[in-house]
Amino acid sequence: MQDRMERLLDKLREQGHRITPQRIAVLRVLLESRDHPSVEDIFEKVKVNFPTTSLATVYKTISVLKELGELLELEFSNDHNRYDGNKPYPHPHLICTRCKKIVDPELGGLTDITRELVSDTGYKILSHRLEFYGICPECQERR
Ligand code: ZN
Ligand code: MN
Repeated sequence: MQDRMERLLDKLREQGHRITPQRIAVLRVLLESRDHPSVEDIFEKVKVNFPTTSLATVYKTISVLKELGELLELEFSNDHNRYDGNKPYPHPHLICTRCKKIVDPELGGLTDITRELVSDTGYKILSHRLEFYGICPECQERR
């Protein structure tokens, strides 16, 4: 994670972006999160140590990281967008429809499916979005 942090900071500096403690805090929350936080989730966590941080700072940092291709944005039409700063490339997600938790499942076979698609359709695949919806074990216990 330290390596990824250094890499992100280097990239931001290269592009002429200012590195502020608030920005570093946003990056840290993104890298420490395994649950795909929303902008609001990130904001709440950053505020603990940097109470003067504005929501705009979080939005701005998110948008810069997206531009740099260092952040995966999961868009939802009826819910807040969620972010993955650890794996900024397309990968499958498993979403709990009750508590909205999102995890990265270890899924073999995706390379085979992609190859099959390419050979069947002749498409050059650029990206994908693969989401599974269900009820997580914790929410199943709770009912
Ligand atoms: Zn759940
Ligand atoms: Mn993910």
